[in-house]
Amino acid sequence: MKEITLSNGMRIPTLGYGVFGIPDPKQCERAVVNAVETGYRLIDTAPGYENEEAVGKAVRNCGLSREEIIVTTKLEASQMGSYDKAMRAFDNSLKTMGLDYMDIYLFHWPMGDVYGAWRALEQIYKEGRVKAIGVCNFWPYRLADFLLDQQILPVINQIEVHPFYQRKTDITWIKDRNIQVQAWSPFAEGKNDIFNNPILKTIGLKYEKSVAQVVLRWLLQQGICVLSKTISSERMVENQQVFDFELNEDDMKNIGKL
Ligand code: NAP
Repeated sequence: MKEITLSNGMRIPTLGYGVFGIPDPKQCERAVVNAVETGYRLIDTAPGYENEEAVGKAVRNCGLSREEIIVTTKLEASQMGSYDKAMRAFDNSLKTMGLDYMDIYLFHWPMGDVYGAWRALEQIYKEGRVKAIGVCNFWPYRLADFLLDQQILPVINQIEVHPFYQRKTDITWIKDRNIQVQAWSPFAEGKNDIFNNPILKTIGLKYEKSVAQVVLRWLLQQGICVLSKTISSERMVENQQVFDFELNEDDMKNIGKL
């Protein structure tokens, strides 16, 4: 799995596995173990996905050492009321997952007391209980204001990006601040009949790749990290086979028109 280095020196895989929409504990635990067995080394969850416990179990029982897997969870908007609330939420996530440290901890949404809550994340980071801190869903105008007043800057901004929502200006702005963009819903959650899109299908045929593989490749080639979710073991493998081909300039331009 290809990796990149975040601005704090931490290395993470460019492609991660997300578990949004898998609330059933047994199914989620099995999916995460399958994901690890097929090669994923970054697992993305959140308290709101109602599967932190299952993810924690899978990480502890998957057969790899804890250090080999990068786990991300998030601080929910409902817990952003203050420094103390954020501290308690982080401790709860660790306890629920049965882990003694977190790899990546992110604000889920820019809501509530973002300044007080960020002080808590800075403190947790300084104590070494998390290896990287960041945000999700911060539009540039929100991030500009937020960045002015921080001791430790976010290293990731996890945002929605896919062929129907390309956000080129936002992405350039975020990258210019040395913050890694990590795309969520790369397949637009299946909306707009993405898997049958004629442009994506035609490009895929040329490289003997599926629409999903073309989309993931298109994101990776822009220097964007990606999270994808599937409960199917076959699709987990398919979604990782994106490092053995390269979209040419015309393909990138044509997808850019979507
Ligand atoms: P997504 O990855 O865009 O789409 C998932 C859908 O695509 C599922 O229905 C899956 O179906 C299908 N799929 C996956 N691979 C496929 C393939 N190769 N061929 C055909 N269908 C395929 O959506 P997402 O789950 O919303 O986003 C990914 C992750 O991003 C989430 O799991 C979560 O970790 C994270 N996320 C973060 C935020 C945030 O606010 N920070 C918000 C949303 C999501 P099957 O499972 O049936 O294969």
